Amino acid sequence: MKREEVKFEYDVFENSEELTESDAALMDAARKVTTKAYAPYSKFLVGAVAKLVNGETVSGTNQENASYPVGICAERVLLSAASMLYTDVAIDTIAITYHNLNGESSKPVSPCGMCRQALKEYEERTGQPIRLILAGMTGKVFIIERSTQLLPFSFGGADMK
Ligand SMILES: [Zn+2]
Repeated sequence: MKREEVKFEYDVFENSEELTESDAALMDAARKVTTKAYAPYSKFLVGAVAKLVNGETVSGTNQENASYPVGICAERVLLSAASMLYTDVAIDTIAITYHNLNGESSKPVSPCGMCRQALKEYEERTGQPIRLILAGMTGKVFIIERSTQLLPFSFGGADMK
């Protein structure tokens, strides 16, 4: 027997002002788009904005439903929109943040498990890692170089070959 280890590194910035101009602009766009979330139940408005390799941007916000499981996260709204609007165009970076109507929080948001799986599929189908910029309403910003780092031991199409 031997013990293996999984670890990954990510960058931590003290605040959005430390980001490069283009990353800061993408995070700013994600903050603005939270106003388009439909989250009357959680009151947790998530905004995600992607920069594609063709220079275009695509947004997503969470869309809740009175039948809770019907709701969909901002990240998967974004991926679905990107797939329709710019089919087969890879995503370079996605900025994700939120506006919590329940109170201020500086904890960077991170994609849920289902969205991590969806991001993995998108990376694989376009053949390019997706960078994530994650932030709270204020404070620290995390940059993760590829979304699949958040999903070790993941299951994908290659596992069915
Ligand atoms: Zn999710």
